[in-house]
Amino acid sequence: MPEYIAKDEKSRNPLLVDMRSLNIRYRIPVSRIEKFYESLDRGIIMGTKCPVCGSRFFPPQAWCSECGFSGDMEFYPLDTHGHLLTFTRIFAKPKSFSGFGDYTVGIAHLDRENINVLAWIDDAIQKPEVGMEISIKVEKRKEDNATVYFISKP
Ligand SMILES: [Zn+2]
Repeated sequence: MPEYIAKDEKSRNPLLVDMRSLNIRYRIPVSRIEKFYESLDRGIIMGTKCPVCGSRFFPPQAWCSECGFSGDMEFYPLDTHGHLLTFTRIFAKPKSFSGFGDYTVGIAHLDRENINVLAWIDDAIQKPEVGMEISIKVEKRKEDNATVYFISKP
């Protein structure tokens, strides 16, 4: 069988393996949450708050999934102090992170916001522990220089 024909792992059906590699750059519409990215670039992490019912959201939502309000949401800086709820080390990475080293992902609970945040855990935390004090910080990810938020030391 030619090298460009592989078997699907589950079905065992033959698959054509294209020899080109694709460089994908995503474009995601963010018109109503653009403020989030502008603030992130200045090191501030914003959530959204519904002006009608007061529900808070992170990641920011452009409308309220609690009361259905679809006008302009209020942006406010998150209180980023919290505790680590859980974490896991990622060895088998999705294709878009295949060039990255192994990394750790966690879920943190922000105490004063009562919101859970999913994020990578910063390398500064060598041994993550459930219940440890954390804060969410904006940093440049070293692998691709993207501005992202990490679960970090308080
Ligand atoms: Zn609402």
